[in-house]
Amino acid sequence: MTTLSPSARSSTTSIIEDDRPVLVSCQRVSHSYGRGHALVVAVREVTCEVEPRARIALTGPSGSGKSTLLHLMAGLEEPTAGRVGWPGLGGHPLMHPGRVGVVFQGPSLLPGLNAVENVSFPLHLAGVSDQEATQRGVDALRRLGIDDLAGALPQELSGGQAQRIAVARVLAARPALILADEPTGQLDHGAAALVMDVLLQAADELDAAVVVSTHDPAVASRLPGRWWMRDGHLEGTDRQARFDTPTEAVRP
Ligand code: ADP
Ligand code: MG
Repeated sequence: MTTLSPSARSSTTSIIEDDRPVLVSCQRVSHSYGRGHALVVAVREVTCEVEPRARIALTGPSGSGKSTLLHLMAGLEEPTAGRVGWPGLGGHPLMHPGRVGVVFQGPSLLPGLNAVENVSFPLHLAGVSDQEATQRGVDALRRLGIDDLAGALPQELSGGQAQRIAVARVLAARPALILADEPTGQLDHGAAALVMDVLLQAADELDAAVVVSTHDPAVASRLPGRWWMRDGHLEGTDRQARFDTPTEAVRP
């Protein structure tokens, strides 16, 4: 459960109370990789929820479980203990393609498809017509300032270009919940700021919730909510802006 201090509830940040059910809820969720001597407990008994229109920065050191928690919330990993539910999304995301959009931390573009084909590919799977899928793909690339790369293949792209195309792919699908895993990790400050501008503007237009994992205090400062992880534990949550506090130093 998101812990809210009375001051957070009455804060003057742009949080709008919303009566709709939470989009995703984690109840004492744990996730382990491997077994025996190779067992790694990546997420430990995490309880949290993402409300409609949430704007959350997920922070914490490398290896603290951020990516695993995002994958659990996306329904891409099954918890080894506890329960993940999606009351505001009508059930498991895999049953409702497009409602949850994930910007993956690592390379995620399909190598045989060019940039616009990569961006529009999920739309084809969701039954959108070829013409509309391509148009939405081009529009999304244009918003991110990379429509000139529409015909480029993934192997011709830099890491930062591929990262922006992965963001475009999520936005083109118009999800209700955006889970972005270090989406600016390979970008310079200017490009990172643009990606955050576009991501937040699109989320406003879509009335979507956003969770962004990041190491970058400048990126975290764009989001009024803050979750922080350590050693698989979600150590704290806060909806209030903490613009003046370095990411790693935020503590309850
Ligand atoms: P973060 O995103 O905060 O860096 P991760 O969720 O990627 O954290 O990783 C949490 C822990 O789980 C780390 O110890 C990592 O090495 C381990 N881990 C992540 N993915 C796997 C995997 N596929 N197999 C085994 N261990 C993994
Ligand atoms: Mg990660």
